[in-house]
Amino acid sequence: MIDKKHIDALVMYREKMVQEQLINRGITSQRVLDAFRKVPRHLFIEDGLIFQAYSDYPLPIAEGQTISQPYIVALMTQNLDLKPDDTILEIGTGSGYQAALLAQLCSKVYSVERFGTIASKTRKLLDGLGYHNVMIIIGDGTKGYEKKAPYDGIIVTAAAPSIPEPLLSQLKDGGRLIIPVGSEHTQELIKVVKQGESFKKESLGGCRFVKLIGEYGWEK
Ligand code: SAH
Repeated sequence: MIDKKHIDALVMYREKMVQEQLINRGITSQRVLDAFRKVPRHLFIEDGLIFQAYSDYPLPIAEGQTISQPYIVALMTQNLDLKPDDTILEIGTGSGYQAALLAQLCSKVYSVERFGTIASKTRKLLDGLGYHNVMIIIGDGTKGYEKKAPYDGIIVTAAAPSIPEPLLSQLKDGGRLIIPVGSEHTQELIKVVKQGESFKKESLGGCRFVKLIGEYGWEK
């Protein structure tokens, strides 16, 4: 049971996370920082780890997956340059934390998850918290989600061996794709911006994610 004293402590840890891990490391978007102040990250974490929710590292969730370190989530989110009317596609719903942040920043979030178990648990959580603009789809996100394409932004929260072609073709002109690309153990965070018929690529630095498994990702 968490009492009032514990909630107050969690709120304080959250503000400290925003200041020390995000602002001090160069996250400047006020909208992104405000979203981090609002979303209760501790509710997206397994019960026994609640008091580590605002720590500077990734944490385990179900099925051997992880919720990313807050700074990496912020860096990816800021680089999506989201506007209030944007529609975004997320690949790898996981705990739903990233989806909840996106839900604060744009009008519609489509999030694809390959594990049905994770998808249904996260659906319940997001419903309970009132994030009704997030739609969770169970499937192979390496193929994107053609039905609602094209998107203003696509964020992939699992590591790919290379950029899945369907994701590039589901971006709007001017759309942004953020994806970790590399080996099983270490990757580079890549930002791709679609400009007419061409794609401008930029590296946002090193990172480490769990594997993106599917037709255009890792085999298993
Ligand atoms: N964004 C999540 C992080 C999830 S970890 C969060 O905020 O918690 C990565 C997730 O990607 C895992 O849940 C994993 O099951 C999922 N995943 C891996 N490959 C996938 C694929 N091809 N399609 C959809 N989801 C995938």
